[in-house]
Amino acid sequence: FTQNEVAPHMQKWDAEHIFPVEMFTKTAALGFGAIYCKEEHGGSGLSRLDASLIFEAIATGCVTSSAYLSIHNMCAWMIDSTGTEEQRAKWLPQLAPMSRLASYCLTEPGSGSDAAALKTTAKSDGNDYVLNGSKAFISGAGATDLYLVMCRTGADGPKGISCVMVEKDTPGLSFGKIERKLGWNAQPTREVVFENCRVPKSNRLGPEGSGFGLAMRGLNGGRVNIASCSLGAAHASLLAAREYMTVRKQFGKQLAEFQALQFQLAEMAAQLVSSRLLVRQAAQSLDSGDPGAPAVCALAKLHATEQCFDVCNRALQLFGGYGYLLDFPVQQYLRDSRVNCILEGTNQVMRMLVARDIIGRLGDA
Ligand SMILES: Cc1cc2nc3c(=O)[nH]c(=O)nc-3n(C[C@H](O)[C@H](O)[C@H](O)COP(=O)(O)OP(=O)(O)OC[C@H]3O[C@@H](n4cnc5c(N)ncnc54)[C@H](O)[C@@H]3O)c2cc1C
Repeated sequence: FTQNEVAPHMQKWDAEHIFPVEMFTKTAALGFGAIYCKEEHGGSGLSRLDASLIFEAIATGCVTSSAYLSIHNMCAWMIDSTGTEEQRAKWLPQLAPMSRLASYCLTEPGSGSDAAALKTTAKSDGNDYVLNGSKAFISGAGATDLYLVMCRTGADGPKGISCVMVEKDTPGLSFGKIERKLGWNAQPTREVVFENCRVPKSNRLGPEGSGFGLAMRGLNGGRVNIASCSLGAAHASLLAAREYMTVRKQFGKQLAEFQALQFQLAEMAAQLVSSRLLVRQAAQSLDSGDPGAPAVCALAKLHATEQCFDVCNRALQLFGGYGYLLDFPVQQYLRDSRVNCILEGTNQVMRMLVARDIIGRLGDA
């Protein structure tokens, strides 16, 4: 599927800033719109491990598209795992075939890493909430249909946050300009603005005050998925570099004959394979309900996104000057995987989570 439907278009989608909605509906036909949701309402009932394989495979053809697909899947799972029967029956049959797309709205202009400090309010008014505030950097914004918005229904801090679903055509919902970015050009990133945006309380996911916990549970899987996209980028870059090294000649020899460059390939393979093992372990820790899963997911995201970015960078170097040209896709893998070290919690935040877990285990055997 990736070879036929994704990879041939990745450079065009990047250059022309095309959000490939048609391709997404084709992935949904394969069951990739709600991969790890229950089958009851159209989910595929697969595991996190399966999802990791899928996101990696699609990312070999386009990191950005696979990353959006992973965000959509994270939102679908949040509804499937937490929604009422009515919410699940309404939304999953639309999200699974990707006839409607979802966005995850946590970050705000004033709160990124310190996400629990968010300021968007949802004031109670009879059977409704009235939302005011804005969300920054929202993937898919403007092109998607359903916004899972973390907003303040109570006091300061994480316990005052709820998750409310806002449909695109709701009065009071609007979007900022499309951000200009280093990569991820095949999906729009925009601010999402709420001005007296009224939504029924029945759109709240889970009890009042449970939104931050839900957002974090979503991100545990999201981090495995984003790390899987980095695996795809590194895998494709490594293969491209290998091929180039057998074609390009300097000093009368193929590049592949220089031992210094062979060693590069070996080191890149070690970076990729160690990342893959860790990402798969994190996926399995979610599948098995391991209470230590959040730290393993953070560790996997930290390691894989940094190592795989380095693999892309080393591959670019092996292409010499050609690696810097837009004609060769390796620079796009590099650009598109760079943000994976920043979003769904920066890698500094991943270090905080891992360190907190290590210190918290002081005294354990
Ligand atoms: C292309 C793109 C798409 C995105 N998509 C989404 C989306 O769909 N939904 C969404 O909600 N968000 C999204 N984001 C937002 C992303 O999750 C945030 O950018 C990220 O969490 C960091 O927040 P910030 O940009 O405000 O940086 P800040 O939190 O301001 O951090 C700035 C720097 O300081 C570091 N830092 C902060 N606090 C500490 C600390 N205590 N110790 C050490 N270092 C620290 C950070 O690691 C970072 O290096 C997206 C971002 C981008 C770029």
